[in-house]
Amino acid sequence: MSITKNDNINRNFFLGFIRLHILFHATQEPIFGLDMIRELERHGYSLSPGTLYPILHNLARDGLLETQQQVVGGKMRKYYLATDAGRQALEAALEKVRELVNEIDPDLGAK
Ligand SMILES: [Zn+2]
Repeated sequence: MSITKNDNINRNFFLGFIRLHILFHATQEPIFGLDMIRELERHGYSLSPGTLYPILHNLARDGLLETQQQVVGGKMRKYYLATDAGRQALEAALEKVRELVNEIDPDLGAK
């Protein structure tokens, strides 16, 4: 895939959305990489493991996610779950999202 200027612009915006999306799901239940790739695909984001895993690692490094190891089908699988700091970061980000949507499209924000 060739990367055009628009792809880069979209990538910068979408990475923020993707981080929030991951954080949200990690507040609902423990998530793992492949499952999250499928979930994001459902929302129209196509991510390779090489893009997703560093995002998960960074969120964990920043203390927003904690990891759990579980054996699934004889294989060790790493799950991620939001920490209290992660939940607070999501709440704070949602406030900002609401404010931004209200600014851009008040009708949309009211829904
Ligand atoms: Zn989702």
